[in-house]
Amino acid sequence: MLARDTATTIRDSFRRPLRDLRISVTDRCNFRCVYCMPKEIFGRDYQFLPSEKLLTFEEIARLARIFVDHGVRKFRLTGGEPLVRRDIEKLVEMLAQIEGVEDIALTTNGSLLAKKAQALKDAGLKRITVSLDSLDDEIFQSMNDVGFPVARVLEGIDAAAAVGLSPIKINMVVKRGVNEQSVVPMARYFRAAGHILRAIEYMDVGHSNGWKMDDVVPAAEVIRMIDADMPLEPVPPNYPGEVATRFRYGDGSGEVGVIASVTQPFCGSCSRARLSSEGQLFTCLFGTRGTDFRTPLREGRSDEELAELLRSVWTVREDRYSEVRTAATQDLPKVEMSYVGG
Ligand code: SAM
Repeated sequence: MLARDTATTIRDSFRRPLRDLRISVTDRCNFRCVYCMPKEIFGRDYQFLPSEKLLTFEEIARLARIFVDHGVRKFRLTGGEPLVRRDIEKLVEMLAQIEGVEDIALTTNGSLLAKKAQALKDAGLKRITVSLDSLDDEIFQSMNDVGFPVARVLEGIDAAAAVGLSPIKINMVVKRGVNEQSVVPMARYFRAAGHILRAIEYMDVGHSNGWKMDDVVPAAEVIRMIDADMPLEPVPPNYPGEVATRFRYGDGSGEVGVIASVTQPFCGSCSRARLSSEGQLFTCLFGTRGTDFRTPLREGRSDEELAELLRSVWTVREDRYSEVRTAATQDLPKVEMSYVGG
């Protein structure tokens, strides 16, 4: 992975550069988190994408290369649950070979991580984010809604640490009346383990989770809770456009972050594009329509034609959903997060 200075970074209507590509490798997940894939919608009869509609690894890697030529420096593999896609480490290996890529990360629910950590590391994955909403089994299982135990996610996290995937970040969605009481125990546990907890405000992604503003625990409240137990100090962002607001523990023993996408939107610095598992490109997590890249790929279009399509999408991008969120925007037919990738 060498530095590449020939790439031209493209910018959108607000001069925001294209820097990150989130790649959803599947719309399927083995959890049914109530805030993401509620069972009432994603039940037995739900039609997931058939495998022939998913982009192949070769198709993803070809597009990824074109994105890197236009400014992307970081890939994040997500889903659905990325580790349910067979041989995912082969895709990691293909992406790691693209010249100019500086960072490859993956977000997972951790359920298959103990098995996959070594293969992912060997393939060139740099670091990992594991989602876990509570250390309390009753609360966690009520949130993942498939009875998955905390201990097995912790095993996955330990396996990732043991093979040197680092830093490890832990994503925790905080929902009012459901898991606020888990914030401080989670912060204590992951501080001691040397991993970075990131509390995420519950968001109105998709249109099936029944989101209400009252269910959101503002990031400032999360920080107050942790600070009362273990004093915190703010830390500047690692790089422009970082989604987490960072804090360190006063005694220098680690870091915690919050993602305040509802109460303190960060659209102004958003440099992320999202590629769905069937090759639709979205320029916002809260988008309603994507642009089809699979058809031109399979029609045999040239790299330059695909590049032109990318430029035609990004250079006119105007999305800033979180900054203009109102009661009315909440009901838009937004794409589901499990489809577009978290
Ligand atoms: N299955 C993987 C996982 O669990 O990390 C990757 C996909 S998941 C959609 C990515 C992240 O989005 C997870 O950390 C999840 O908790 C978070 N997420 C899903 N729905 C959310 C919502 N409504 N508000 C905030 N975060 C959400």
